[in-house]
Amino acid sequence: MNQQIKLDLPNGINLFMKREDLLHPFVSGNKFRKLKYNLLQAKIEQQNTILTFGGAFSNHIAAVAYAGKEQGFKTIGIIRGDELRDQINNNPTLKFAQECGMQFKFISREAYRHKHENNYLDHLKKEFGAFYLIPEGGTNELAVKGCEEILTTEDSKFDYVCCAVGTGGTIAGIIKSALPHQKILGFPALKGDFLQDEIRIFASNTGWKLINDYHFGGYGKISEELIQFMNSFFSKTEIPIDPIYTGKMVFGVIDLIHKGYFAENSQILLIHTGGLQGIEGMNQKLKKKKLPILTTNV
Ligand SMILES: *Cc1c(COP(=O)(O)O)cnc(C)c1O
Repeated sequence: MNQQIKLDLPNGINLFMKREDLLHPFVSGNKFRKLKYNLLQAKIEQQNTILTFGGAFSNHIAAVAYAGKEQGFKTIGIIRGDELRDQINNNPTLKFAQECGMQFKFISREAYRHKHENNYLDHLKKEFGAFYLIPEGGTNELAVKGCEEILTTEDSKFDYVCCAVGTGGTIAGIIKSALPHQKILGFPALKGDFLQDEIRIFASNTGWKLINDYHFGGYGKISEELIQFMNSFFSKTEIPIDPIYTGKMVFGVIDLIHKGYFAENSQILLIHTGGLQGIEGMNQKLKKKKLPILTTNV
């Protein structure tokens, strides 16, 4: 569903948001798209266990846990950070995943860095038996295929499509399904030059660009300015956005609109990739730091 964003914008710009956050109550946004064909493939391969990786507040972990439960898979989450073992009950994401039946293995940050190496995966197979592996963030060929379904024929009127970028799987799907006249702008939620190449592994088309000016210091980092922006956006539009991904992207697009980046009368589509489950965990952190919290209540 595309919803018009009614803000006071210059240059005749028209802004719409694709509400992928509303696709499913628990498996929100792009994680739903990314899991679709992977879970089908796991069934074809007759696997009954899904194993994946993620951090403390990972949308992907929450999505795999719920989708696994819904579709009858056993799920295993390899979680970054030894110390989280004792904090499950204070961590809304992990608590939710555990209630969905996900089994955790907590590992050190050092071990986590080697998570996709064959040695480590063999070690996991010995420990857990056979499993269908979904990489961190859920990005692989089948995930990109799922994300090709985000844009539909009714989106052909848009000149620009903007989305947040984590591992790059979502934007790769959007790039592959975009029409030749459309420009795709990605807003990385983290620092790093590697994303461009990652995206090219899956999408060979041109006509897209990453805008690296709105990561706010890196993954999961947030500033008071961003919090105020998101709260104001919510009070004007009643659309909740998450602080890790979509919040930064929307901040970036509105900033660029005011700086005259887009041509007059441009039609811009923002992809709301979901991730609202992360707001509660973020607010816990903000309270500890005595910063204002996100009032984008859901
Ligand atoms: C995971 C996630 C992203 C990033 O998607 P990638 O395919 O990894 O680039 C964007 N937005 C939300 C809300 C997410 O949960």
